[in-house]
Amino acid sequence: MAASMAAAARRLRRAFRRSPLWGGLSRRPFSSEPPPASATAVRDAFLSFFRDRHGHQLVPSASVRPRGDPSLLFVNAGMNQFKPIFLGTVDPRSEMAGFRRVANSQKCVRAGGRHNDLEDVGRDLSHHTFFEMLGNWAFGGEYFKEEACRMAWELLTQVYGIPEDRLWVSYFGGDPKAGLDPDLESRDIWLSLGVCASHVLSFGPQENFWEMGNTGPCGPCTEIHYDLAGRGGAPQLVELWNLVFIQHNREADGSLQPLPQRHVDTGMGLERLVAVLQGTHSTYDTDLFSPLLDAIQQGCGVSPYLGRVGAADEGRTDMAYRVVADHIRTLSVCIADGVCPGMSGAPLVLRRILRRAVRFSTEVLRAPPGFLGSLVPVVVETLGDAYPELRKHSAQIVNLVSEDEAAFLASLQRGRHIIDQTLRRLGPSDLFPAEVAWSLSLSGNLGLPLDLVELMLEEKGVQLDSAGLARLAQEETQHRSRQAEPAQERGLQLNVHALGELQRRGVPPTDDSPKYSYSLRPSGGYEFGTCEAQVLQLYTEDGTAVASVGKGQRCGLLLDKTNFYAEQGGQASDRGYLVRVGQEDVLFPVPRAQVCGGFILHEAVAPEGLKVGDQVQLHVDEAWRLGCMEKHTATHLLNWALRQTLGPGTEQQGSHLNPERLRFDVATQAPLTPEQLRAVEGTVQEAVGQDEAVYMEEVALARTAHVPGLRFLDEVYPDPVRVVSVGVPVAEALDLASQAALQTSVELCCGTHLLRTGAVGDLVIVGERQLSRGTTRLLAVTGEQAQQAREVGQALAQEVGAAAERLSRGSQDVVEAQRLSKDMGRLTDAVDTAVMPQWQRRELQATLKVLQRRANTAIRKLETGQAAQKTQELLRRHSEGPLIVDTVSTESLSVLVKVVRQLCERAPRTSVLLLSPQPLGHVLCACQVAQGTTPAFTAEAWALAVCSHMGGKAWGSQVVAQGTGTTADLEAALRTARAYALNQL
Ligand code: ATP
Ligand code: MG
Repeated sequence: MAASMAAAARRLRRAFRRSPLWGGLSRRPFSSEPPPASATAVRDAFLSFFRDRHGHQLVPSASVRPRGDPSLLFVNAGMNQFKPIFLGTVDPRSEMAGFRRVANSQKCVRAGGRHNDLEDVGRDLSHHTFFEMLGNWAFGGEYFKEEACRMAWELLTQVYGIPEDRLWVSYFGGDPKAGLDPDLESRDIWLSLGVCASHVLSFGPQENFWEMGNTGPCGPCTEIHYDLAGRGGAPQLVELWNLVFIQHNREADGSLQPLPQRHVDTGMGLERLVAVLQGTHSTYDTDLFSPLLDAIQQGCGVSPYLGRVGAADEGRTDMAYRVVADHIRTLSVCIADGVCPGMSGAPLVLRRILRRAVRFSTEVLRAPPGFLGSLVPVVVETLGDAYPELRKHSAQIVNLVSEDEAAFLASLQRGRHIIDQTLRRLGPSDLFPAEVAWSLSLSGNLGLPLDLVELMLEEKGVQLDSAGLARLAQEETQHRSRQAEPAQERGLQLNVHALGELQRRGVPPTDDSPKYSYSLRPSGGYEFGTCEAQVLQLYTEDGTAVASVGKGQRCGLLLDKTNFYAEQGGQASDRGYLVRVGQEDVLFPVPRAQVCGGFILHEAVAPEGLKVGDQVQLHVDEAWRLGCMEKHTATHLLNWALRQTLGPGTEQQGSHLNPERLRFDVATQAPLTPEQLRAVEGTVQEAVGQDEAVYMEEVALARTAHVPGLRFLDEVYPDPVRVVSVGVPVAEALDLASQAALQTSVELCCGTHLLRTGAVGDLVIVGERQLSRGTTRLLAVTGEQAQQAREVGQALAQEVGAAAERLSRGSQDVVEAQRLSKDMGRLTDAVDTAVMPQWQRRELQATLKVLQRRANTAIRKLETGQAAQKTQELLRRHSEGPLIVDTVSTESLSVLVKVVRQLCERAPRTSVLLLSPQPLGHVLCACQVAQGTTPAFTAEAWALAVCSHMGGKAWGSQVVAQGTGTTADLEAALRTARAYALNQL
């Protein structure tokens, strides 16, 4: 059997790699007669199969925006949301910690990052940037290979009725280099399920060993493929379902270790499954896509979609159909989940997707403007029942897509214009300048993808200066890396083995309830309790569990309880110190505490030895903690005030706070106006002024489910969960009839809060910027800092007022006017960067812009007037001739230049050079060469000759130039100027 298997494997290896095209156009339903099931029915059948027949809990799809996982651009597999289970870091009080067998249909986006199918989309008939992944999971060994394979086989062959002889399976054939044996267990399971031996093939680690990343949980997988040809001849295979058996951990040193717990993780693409069940070779010929293809045909008035690929697809019309249909689904799903087209990271990828869709729709399908937005309702219609967030945000999706489409079309037009203009300046063999291409590109100003710019140039038969472009790209990368926010140090972590070991030993999660034991003294100050605890385990820096640590060693401490707040929910970790009971004079500084799977790891540098079993006393840094409490309560008030000002649908997208400042991301259609910013601050101040009580209580998660107005962030909440309510006791706030959550701030939150709002003192929004379209990031300060920000704002407003007054007085002196203009520039810089109220910054910026413009106009007017007067004097002094070289008294180089210009206008045959002596021997110089003089006589060279004679410098063009120098002998400089010119004339 092994020999024939090996032969079959060799024969089929090529076919087995991703089948490039689900070729052919034929639609051949199975012989079983009933009409093909709809995609909705197929999805439902999957979910009810696992729920009803095999006792799985159904969980909703996670948002495609990854939660707390910077390694991902988009959620790209069903397992992403369960990563904390695989890593052992899941909060034991969360619902997820109780998951044993679950199933779902997960929205996945594979465009950018480790899984990127963007380039395949449109070219083949089976890859999408957005697709739905049906999956079932068994955690912690709930079931493993045998049950997983059996369930999959049962579902495909009995429920969906796919003929067994059309299915092929693969298993992991081992990796001698890594010391991994073949997964014969999986092979034998398939054989025992009746899969014909010739349909069971083995492959190496490339195909059949699944890894989450460079390190972390991993294991062999077994895949189920479908034979599209099905004629008994050469199979044409497409992968349907991947069953992963997570049983190893890839360590940092590259080795593999067995995991403390084993898991099953499976994923099957819904679109491919539906194609199989609807008897077609293409995912686009299913009811998931055909409404979109029809809408495209109607909207663009093109010939119908024919499903051609490659060379057969003349004019790439069918590819355009596919690209547009695929991309509009991705755009809709992403925007509904809060990822909007933008300038970096996932938003940038989305922007590229949108622009690719616009190009294909307008260039190939000749779509009318605004076309893409018109497809959104079709997406909502096909996917809205499965993913209600699409319905909820449909208007916003249409808006964003349409706006961006219009912006891109305008950019395209301007881009074409700029290219044409540039080409007019180029010689026949010149390369197209890299700077211009860059300024047109996505990284530059207009936002045209570089490949599009190249294509547009190619059409014109010009070549791009690619070397120059590569240099610019490199400079940009360097610039970005300098600008990037410093990556936060990750600190000590408990690894998957340490966590597994703790769970195996039955060590209970750290009791951190003492973090909430603080009280308000009658004097208004806070009193924080200390906490006595026992060292349960020590860890070295590399995560190894040890019984003791020596002097000077950086280590992690696990205690039975703690009053430290570990970083979570956007609140910075506490810091502080601990002492060993009985040895209170030796402080162990604790800069940070982190939570991992319910265990809180304190980071410390041990000034003395410490061992498991020691009793310690913990002290949090009270000023730091109080700062966090102020900022956290302020964050809730801000959230509440934003909803009051912008509307009840306003959603928080994230926040972070430490004692210095708070950051708050909010979904908005447009930047906040200065009036809105002021209104938000006003609402917060009101709540602060009333010094309301802040109520906190733990309640069953279920009690919070239907409270009107109560906000859930996209987060996993523990059960029971803490509710934080301002001004209204928690029980009342949760009473469904009370509506309290609509009238005050009520949030689920595990943070530490003030007990009364008064201590927030004040709140000022000091910064606001668009993170991406649809998301605004606010920065705010509170208390003393807020007061200071207001004072800075006041002071700057006064300065701007004074400058405006000076300007309106109207000076007759150019130098004074120039000084005023410079002051305005300095004020603008100060207003741009000061820590001050954002609403005021925006108002002052607008005022300064007007003032600056007025100042510049005044200067120009004064200069022109002065120059005219001086020109008159000079004309009186000089009779007509080829040359005027003279001195003029003015303090302004720009007046001097104007005099030269006016003289040359009045006496076009005269070349003019003027010097203007300044204090300390400085000299200003300006010149212009008359039209029609010899080509060798250039203004720049003339000015240079004179200014270098005075030890200075000059700049300009062939016709006009200016410069400066220093000399005690002005006459000699004038002689040089004359001699040079006479020599040239
Ligand atoms: P392929 O080799 O076909 O790209 P894959 O190995 O990348 O597939 P997995 O990561 O194992 O796929 O994902 C599990 C399942 O999800 C696949 O078996 C397939 O049915 C589906 N799938 C994967 N990528 C896509 C995609 N880009 N579009 C549609 N379905 C997909
Ligand atoms: Mg793939």
